[in-house]
Amino acid sequence: MWLEKLPEHKTELIDSKGVRADGRKLDQLRPIKLEVGILDKADGSAYIEQGKNKILVAVYGPREAHPKHIALPDRAVIRCRYHMAPFSVDERKNPAPSRREHELSKVIRESLEPVVLTDLYPRTVIDLFVEILQSDGGSRCAGITGASLALADAGIPMRELVAACAIGKIEGKLALDLSDSEDKYGEADLPVAYVPNANLVTLLQMDGELTIEEFNKGLEMAVEACKTIHTMQREALKKKFREIKESVIEKEETEVVA
Ligand code: ADP
Repeated sequence: MWLEKLPEHKTELIDSKGVRADGRKLDQLRPIKLEVGILDKADGSAYIEQGKNKILVAVYGPREAHPKHIALPDRAVIRCRYHMAPFSVDERKNPAPSRREHELSKVIRESLEPVVLTDLYPRTVIDLFVEILQSDGGSRCAGITGASLALADAGIPMRELVAACAIGKIEGKLALDLSDSEDKYGEADLPVAYVPNANLVTLLQMDGELTIEEFNKGLEMAVEACKTIHTMQREALKKKFREIKESVIEKEETEVVA
C-alpha cells in the first residue's frame, strides 16, 4: 500500500510565506504542456504533462460496436479505460485494473459525455484510452483535459472542450492543483471538470472535508483554473492545424515548382 511509504515532513507542505513545497503559490497551477495528434495509428490522440504527470490519450472511433449488444440505437457509446502503467508510481503498480482505475474510467467518461454529440453516430462506439505514464496527483483531471483534446483531434463533433483541475486543502489553506504529496497529506481534494462556454460542471468529486465557504471559494478557484487550461487546449489544437496548413502550402509550392 503506497500510503505507508509517505515521507514524514507533513508540516512542510507550505512555508511561513505561503509558498508550497514545489515553489508554487496557493492559487498557482503546475506547468502544463499539451500536444495534439502525436500517435499515427489512433484516430485521435493527445499528450499532457501537468507537473510530473505524463499522460497519453488515444481515441478510436466512432466505429462499429463490439460486442454488438453494447450498441445503442440512438447514439454512440463512449468507452473509457484509465490505466496506470506499472512504472507510473514509485512502487511497481499491479498492471491489473484496480477498483480505483474502474472508478476513474467511469468518472472520466461521464465528464466528457455531455459535450460529445453521440446522437450523430448511432450504433457505434468511441473508445478512449487514458494511459498514465507517470503519476503525481490530479491524474484524473489531467486525463480529462487530455481526453477532450484527443476527441477533438479525432474530429468527433463536440459542443466544447472540457477542462479539469483539482482544488484541495493543505494545512488549512485552499490550494490549486494538488501534487501527489499534497493530495496524500492534505485535508481535502476536490476534482472539477468544467465546460467554460456552457458554464457547466461535468465532474465534481470530494475527498476529505471543507466548510461551505471553503467549498464555494474552492469551486470558484477550480473553475478559473479550468478556464485557463481551456485557453491552453484551444492553443494546442490551433497549433496542430496551423502546422497542417503550413505543410499543405509547402507541398503545393513544391508541386508548382516541379
Ligand atoms: P488523482 O490522480 O486523480 O489525484 P487519486 O486522488 O486517487 O487520483 O490519487 C492521487 C495520487 O495517488 C495519484 O495521482 C498517484 O500519484 C497516487 N497513486 C494512485 N494509485 C497509486 C498506486 N497504486 N501506487 C502509488 N501511487 C498511487
